[in-house]
Amino acid sequence: MTDKTDLVGLPLADLEALFASWGEKRFRAKQVHKWLHERGATSFDAMTDLPKALRERLEQEATLTGLAVAREQTSRDGTVKRLYRLADGQLVETVLMPYKDGRRTACISSQAGCAMGCVFCATGQMGFKRHLTAAEIFGQVWRAHAECRARGERLSNVVLMGMGEPLHNYGPVLEAVRRMQADLGIGARHITLSTVGLAPQIRRFADEGLQVTLAISLHAADDATRRALMPVNKRYPLDELLDAVRYYVERTKRRVTFEWALIEGENDTPERAAELGRLLRGLPCHVNLIPLNPTGGYAGRPSDPERVAAFVQGLADHGIPATVRVRRGIDIDAGCGQLRERYLDV
Ligand code: SAH
Ligand code: SF4
Repeated sequence: MTDKTDLVGLPLADLEALFASWGEKRFRAKQVHKWLHERGATSFDAMTDLPKALRERLEQEATLTGLAVAREQTSRDGTVKRLYRLADGQLVETVLMPYKDGRRTACISSQAGCAMGCVFCATGQMGFKRHLTAAEIFGQVWRAHAECRARGERLSNVVLMGMGEPLHNYGPVLEAVRRMQADLGIGARHITLSTVGLAPQIRRFADEGLQVTLAISLHAADDATRRALMPVNKRYPLDELLDAVRYYVERTKRRVTFEWALIEGENDTPERAAELGRLLRGLPCHVNLIPLNPTGGYAGRPSDPERVAAFVQGLADHGIPATVRVRRGIDIDAGCGQLRERYLDV
């Protein structure tokens, strides 16, 4: 545990307040802020235009971020999966995915564990530990951004699809999203927030005036199946969820994404595809299909490629565009919550 100040976690106004309390001139805070976010400094030593005494004080009393790397694995496809240990020992995952077209996407966590209890999910199976702070959420993006930069690349996209339910940790997630835009120049359209479907928070998020891409984890198009997979459906059944999604589309004029983990025999039949097609009729949307990643606490199996292809065709017959998500980093357990699961096993 460290009691040093997490500088990256401080918005500019807080950095200015800290420096004022140290008796430093106001512009010093701006200088440090610029080093951290625009110039990509990864040490205090690199901040060469600061007086030596200030650099020494920073060294003693501050850290760049409070995130310590507990474990890191690189996949054959270049995907880097990292487990961070937070100041209180909690472990959270970040995945950095390079694409051939030059895009660099960071998949980040919003909570340690998750309270939503989706039966197929490794994070759900571990239960809820705690919310992450805005600094811890933003810090994951900052590190990915700084590392891309050091290699002459640019972090282009962020997806909130790691551990946790982002809309259950609304305030800190929103603050972190705003800082991604303001401090790192990542446009809202390049940020995707994935949610289990907390209807009231989706409406609230629609009113924030952001252009963030919304992804809804659907996985079933009838209430009985969805309730069995995702307990949240008892609270917010499909009707209520879809109403909130339509409101989001209306307010933001953005197309939404629906996520669907294909589970053999459970939600991958032609009838299920037709049912989903009917549910989404008229909604500007896109469906992301991903064969289930098997986890320790759930017996379901991933659908085989023929069933996946038939499902895509079934949706196409209803005019719904769908893509099968490439399973990045599958050789390194880069599924939601899975690196942590494996790490604690060994
Ligand atoms: N809590 C948010 C975001 C994190 S999960 C949400 O649920 O949307 C990111 C995505 O991975 C979600 O669509 C989730 O349903 C999916 N997912 C979780 N466990 C999975 C598994 N074992 N196989 C395939 N997809 C899974
Ligand atoms: Fe939580 Fe998302 Fe996993 Fe469901 S799928 S338990 S909401 S992290």
